[in-house]
Amino acid sequence: MNVEKYVAVVDIGRLGKPAIVAHGGAGGWQVERVGEALQVLKKAVEVGLKQKTALDMVVEAIAVLEDSGILNAGIGSVLTFDGRVQMDAGLMYRGWAAGVGAVSYPRNPIRLAKEVYTRTRHVLLVGADADMLAAKLGLPKHPGPSASNFEKWVKSRMNAKKLKWAAPLLQLYGDTVGAVALDQEGHLAAGASTGGISLKHPGRVGDSPIPGAGYYAEDGLGACSATGIGETILLGMVCRKIVELLSKKSPVEAVKHVLYEHTSRFGADTVGVIVLSAEGEAVAGINTRAMPIGYGGMRSGVMLLERNGKVLEP
Ligand code: ASP
Repeated sequence: MNVEKYVAVVDIGRLGKPAIVAHGGAGGWQVERVGEALQVLKKAVEVGLKQKTALDMVVEAIAVLEDSGILNAGIGSVLTFDGRVQMDAGLMYRGWAAGVGAVSYPRNPIRLAKEVYTRTRHVLLVGADADMLAAKLGLPKHPGPSASNFEKWVKSRMNAKKLKWAAPLLQLYGDTVGAVALDQEGHLAAGASTGGISLKHPGRVGDSPIPGAGYYAEDGLGACSATGIGETILLGMVCRKIVELLSKKSPVEAVKHVLYEHTSRFGADTVGVIVLSAEGEAVAGINTRAMPIGYGGMRSGVMLLERNGKVLEP
């Protein structure tokens, strides 16, 4: 397999310190929805840049994306096979990580992950007990499936009558969100949030709450956030691999290396990443059709990265 044909990497360039990069998921991306997604990413970057610590930059930027309702996270989360919202989110900052898996209660799972990070020494809380913590802390409650996602769920269940208990994974993902940030002090953070894969089996947890897989940050090296088919990202430990490679390769080379390897192992249409180095250099890569990106620092902007390497900038 000529993997280079399926992978596109863009060197966003030096953003300095502070800096932030956010994405709206690596998936199919129909043209008519891109404009809206880029607007939301622009806002997320602006809100992120107003924060002081890299942790808050990532949390607040992701919360904007979760609240948008047009991306597969928070309010816009896709539904499980039996029509429920079950979300995953996680973040890493200053050598520690915290994630929540298969949660339904919080409107903003990334805020619950921050509570786990600041209040406990646990790395992962899941399901009903994580939901109970969100309720106990008084976090805003998720309103339940959005009308448009419910409609899509009804249609996809009708189109897929053969399916008995969960959809096959391929091509049923998209629009997950993530962010990476570098603050004034030089600390790095990474985070991810998702409704997961639509028609997933209830209880399925993907890469987004797992450090090393869906996100990873190490001061002095870099930060990475991933999107795509969570099962492949978990097996590939994509973000940890990329961040570790930053000790000996440039960000562009590190992303290419891991995405080529991932594509030859799992095929195309499986992964997308955003990466920020400790020097504030930003890079993004995909082996999917496209990924919308927002970035800010010394320079700010939005772009759609396409598989053929084309970058559309409004
Ligand atoms: N990575 C997410 C998951 O597998 C889905 C996505 O990125 O769209 O849960």
